Amino acid sequence: MAASAKARRRAGLVGGTRPWYDGRRSRTIVVNRDRRARWMSVMRVVVVGAGLGGVAAAVGLHRQGHEVTLYERGAELREAGTAVVVMPNGVRALDALGLSDHVRGQTMPAVSGGLRDWRGRPLLVTDVAQAQQTVGPSVAVSRAELHRALRAPLPAQSVRTATPVHWLGPGRTEVTVIGDGRLLTKADAVIVADGIGSTIRGRLFPRHPGLRRVGRLDLRGMLPRPASPDVTGLLAGIMIDRRTGAMFGLFPVGGDHLYWFTDSALHGAPPEADEARRDVLSLMADWHPSVPALIEATSPTDIYVDAIACLAEPLPSFAIGRVALLGDAAHAMTPDLGQGASQAFEDAAAVTRHLAGAGPADVEQRLLRYDAERRPRTSRLMAASSRQAWLMSRTGATAWLRDAALRAVPRRLATRQLASMWRV
Ligand SMILES: Cc1cc2nc3c(=O)[nH]c(=O)nc-3n(C[C@H](O)[C@H](O)[C@H](O)COP(=O)(O)OP(=O)(O)OC[C@H]3O[C@@H](n4cnc5c(N)ncnc54)[C@H](O)[C@@H]3O)c2cc1C
Repeated sequence: MAASAKARRRAGLVGGTRPWYDGRRSRTIVVNRDRRARWMSVMRVVVVGAGLGGVAAAVGLHRQGHEVTLYERGAELREAGTAVVVMPNGVRALDALGLSDHVRGQTMPAVSGGLRDWRGRPLLVTDVAQAQQTVGPSVAVSRAELHRALRAPLPAQSVRTATPVHWLGPGRTEVTVIGDGRLLTKADAVIVADGIGSTIRGRLFPRHPGLRRVGRLDLRGMLPRPASPDVTGLLAGIMIDRRTGAMFGLFPVGGDHLYWFTDSALHGAPPEADEARRDVLSLMADWHPSVPALIEATSPTDIYVDAIACLAEPLPSFAIGRVALLGDAAHAMTPDLGQGASQAFEDAAAVTRHLAGAGPADVEQRLLRYDAERRPRTSRLMAASSRQAWLMSRTGATAWLRDAALRAVPRRLATRQLASMWRV
């Protein structure tokens, strides 16, 4: 007969069910309560994946005094591709991690952002400077430079590149970390940050439907800011085309670069990069002249193409025993609210806070608290991003009505709405 919970506690054992989501009833795992370990606050923590989220978490946990090892499958630590917009909540999360110096130096200039039609005529005008005064700065920064700044505090000996992690074996008191069929290490806690295509997520949640393609193709480019055309009036704004449902966004990166992105319908398989660029140029040939001019002026090697996908539904948990998920591995969402990286930074700050002072014996409880804090918020944002994608990609009568409604919103109200969106 199973021992009662009281008896187990007296014997120094803690029993409990874990949300091991394989469609069957959760199994019971008995955790040895090692009194010595309870008082130790240094744990062996493994972080899988050195994207923006994984690096931020690794630095946060390292600064808490944990013994962190960061495994990255890529041959080197780097972040590829253009720029990223970090929203005020993302900047605050970086503040909490002591990692905001780089972004704080580059806040968005005082421009009027908002939504415009494909010719650049205003639909919903906002005052970005005013919104930032209310909720704090947002910033568009080079991904490569942000990654470099975030990873700088990490000691070289904590990082293992060219080392993919394929499986995590949850044990009674530790997790075995396995890559290429061999044991890499054992850890007290593992943070899974291996991105939207996470293989570990698929193994931890075999019944979860995984990713859903949303039928949109995004191109992103970054280029030195040209002397002409003068694009000041289009900065920090998004142009939408009710005829095709396509979108173009433009942001300043520092004083001397521009970051642009397009979003348009994708029917069938994603095209090669060259073909995608040609298609989007033809789709936007009669837009505001700055749009095709900027795409033309961007070196094809600096254009990145993504078929947009998101998690088909939220995960049932971000924490399974001693393992927690973070960033796109946990809650991949469409990029329409520009929240993916900011949410990864919030995750990193939260997991760092929840594991502060934790020892091997209480890590599971701490990670459950991390899950309770992060999952409801990111699930709401996943749904809100999908709604925004739907609304912005409308064509025909719905789009005409949308544009008419947007034009009717006064600037002050639009700015207040922008600020409240950034307050999320
Ligand atoms: C077109 C587009 C535009 C976007 N724009 C914005 C924006 O403006 N603002 C914003 O906030 N977000 C934006 N996002 C989303 C944002 O880029 C992501 O949410 C964010 O980069 C996720 O970071 P991550 O660390 O979770 O994952 P990733 O950056 O994907 O990092 C995962 C890392 O794990 C590594 N890895 C994978 N598998 C393994 C393994 N088995 N073992 C070891 N390592 C592994 C990978 O090599 C990679 O380095 C955009 C996304 C897209 C597609």
